[in-house]
Amino acid sequence: MLFLLGCGELSNSKSHIMTINDPHSFARPEICSITHLDWKAKIHFGRKVISATATFTIETSDSASELILDTKDLKVHSVENGNNESLNFKMGEDIPHLGRPLTIEITGATKRVVIEYETSPEAEALQWLVPAQTADKTSPFLFTQSQAILARSWLPIQDSPGVRFTYRAEVSVPQGLLALMSAANPTTTNNTGIYQFEMKQPIPAYLMALAVGRLEFASLGPRSGVYAEPSMLQKSAHEFEDLEEMISSAETLYGPYQWDRYDLIVLPPSFPFGGMENPRLTFVTPTILAGDKSLTSLVAHELAHSWSGNLVTNATWDDFWLNEGFTVYFENRIMEAVYGREYSEMLALLALQDLKTEIEDLIKSGKEADTHLKLNLSGRNPDDGMTAIAYDKGYFFLRLLEERVGRARFDDFLKGYFAKNAFKVMTTETFIDQLKRDLIEASHLDIGDDLLHAWIYGPGLPDNCPLPVSGKFENVDLAITDWLKNASKSNLEKEFNSSSWSTHEWLRFIRQLPDTLGAQRMASLDSAFGFTVSGNSEIFAAWAVHVIANDYKPAYDHLEAFLINTGRRKFLMPLYTELIKTEEGKQMAKAIYQKARPNYHYVSSSSIDALLDIK
Ligand SMILES: [Zn+2]
Repeated sequence: MLFLLGCGELSNSKSHIMTINDPHSFARPEICSITHLDWKAKIHFGRKVISATATFTIETSDSASELILDTKDLKVHSVENGNNESLNFKMGEDIPHLGRPLTIEITGATKRVVIEYETSPEAEALQWLVPAQTADKTSPFLFTQSQAILARSWLPIQDSPGVRFTYRAEVSVPQGLLALMSAANPTTTNNTGIYQFEMKQPIPAYLMALAVGRLEFASLGPRSGVYAEPSMLQKSAHEFEDLEEMISSAETLYGPYQWDRYDLIVLPPSFPFGGMENPRLTFVTPTILAGDKSLTSLVAHELAHSWSGNLVTNATWDDFWLNEGFTVYFENRIMEAVYGREYSEMLALLALQDLKTEIEDLIKSGKEADTHLKLNLSGRNPDDGMTAIAYDKGYFFLRLLEERVGRARFDDFLKGYFAKNAFKVMTTETFIDQLKRDLIEASHLDIGDDLLHAWIYGPGLPDNCPLPVSGKFENVDLAITDWLKNASKSNLEKEFNSSSWSTHEWLRFIRQLPDTLGAQRMASLDSAFGFTVSGNSEIFAAWAVHVIANDYKPAYDHLEAFLINTGRRKFLMPLYTELIKTEEGKQMAKAIYQKARPNYHYVSSSSIDALLDIK
């Protein structure tokens, strides 16, 4: 559907209006848009529902006659206007992926709309965990994942990235638990179980977030800290001790951090993503707690979203690469600033490998159009766009621009871009206009439309893709070639000279191994390097692909435990995909999945249902 978007500045001024088509929302904000939400909610762990009152402040055109909100599986009890006068409303037809529009009759004079409602126990954004599914196993846990279009399963809302609103909330939870939101947060559990929140900066619905559990807080710096279950707190605080340095490096690159505090919450392992950039409170998976800070580039990524995504937001999910490509680029620059160029180049090379595999897979399965940066996700689940294309093809495109124009000039452009477009939405087309005007033409650079179009609207990876360079990876590759040439050697550790290898070098090593190694070589690698018992989730996940391909039975118990206890889709998909390549593996995948599915969030289980053809 076609609608107009307010520019979404802090003032909510409608002076800059652009026309945008968001195929994933029923909302018509050009007629009536929400500007503020007061949310009063009670969390019922027993029934797995949230009962709530959502009071919206709205802005209407004079002739407005309706407010349309997105909903999914919500039970709406009543709607009124803030003066105890009922408003007529109707729920529209249920459309796959999108849910149902809630259309409320209003007039141009209506200023408030109050909705009393309840969520469904199946609400897709919400994951309810019993104590056994948490780290400490003492208390239940609830967390939300709203991106891309799941906020509507716990809030009636205009669920389009272009509609921004501020919010206040009062959330009531069982005593002894702490509630946290993407807002100003408490740091201690109180006796009442009632917590207040305020988000002063306007955000889109996909950044609405809530977590409830037995949680404690540790400070990491003057404006940063980490929340975790008590048994995970010290480990988490140690893992993220460089956070303050990351924040200052980010500010030096692209301007002030605009969200006051930056805190992290370490969730139980069923969290489906690596991280989610909920403003002021990034949600992270415990699978990055490696003990040696080697997987914290994920935190740099989520922090970078405080600029790319949360400040300058993709207008629709077709423009998702603007959120993610910029963020991977920015993440890489933060990692370079904090840990050096060699370190960030290793990350870039690993990403390039992932990207090439993803492009091959997409093309093989007839989805060449999904290898374009600018997508067309109309009529589809927007999660289909969450591939390495948006992230890593986006990154390499921006890196190519940087290399062509020079880093200093590119940084100036980006700094200006974030400042000028803060709290606004961005379409791919507006970005191209600004890039041409503010960078290419302003500096009289020779970058033609052909290059831009090939990367943004064309398939695959153009030939001019930059190639990261890592001497450390070259050494790893040499070591493998050498080893493969010489049948069997006894002291592998010494032979590879690997005592100082980082997680990234190990990942390179495991990924470069040939597809078929045979049981004996698998066993000798495993006994030398302990991949099966590695506490590092990235290393185990990469190794497990070889475990399945080589039918390496000694690691199957670990594989099963990993699949049951980890809900992170990035790890699950390649492993289930590898398993179902054989008939025996398929049976094993289904048997494991039956035990694992209750531990997965909808985001992961819906992907694996489709993969295993489970209806
Ligand atoms: Zn991201």
